[in-house]
Amino acid sequence: MNKLLKVKCPQCDTTFTYYESEFRPFCSKRCQQIDLGHWFQETYTVPTRDVVMEEEQSIDQDSDERNESEYES
Ligand SMILES: [Zn+2]
Repeated sequence: MNKLLKVKCPQCDTTFTYYESEFRPFCSKRCQQIDLGHWFQETYTVPTRDVVMEEEQSIDQDSDERNESEYES
């Protein structure tokens, strides 16, 4: 009975037999890789996005101010 344990893949919600999957708790290697990729992407992009946005804003402000003062003088 235990060998027929059915679970839902956390990635794609497919019901599969737990002990038949090499990649449990995922149904397939693909779902396992998607989940890993998602996890890595999140840890990468969240801090990087903030830094990039701050840099872009400050660069824009600096160049605007420089352009204006050059124009006036
Ligand atoms: Zn899946």
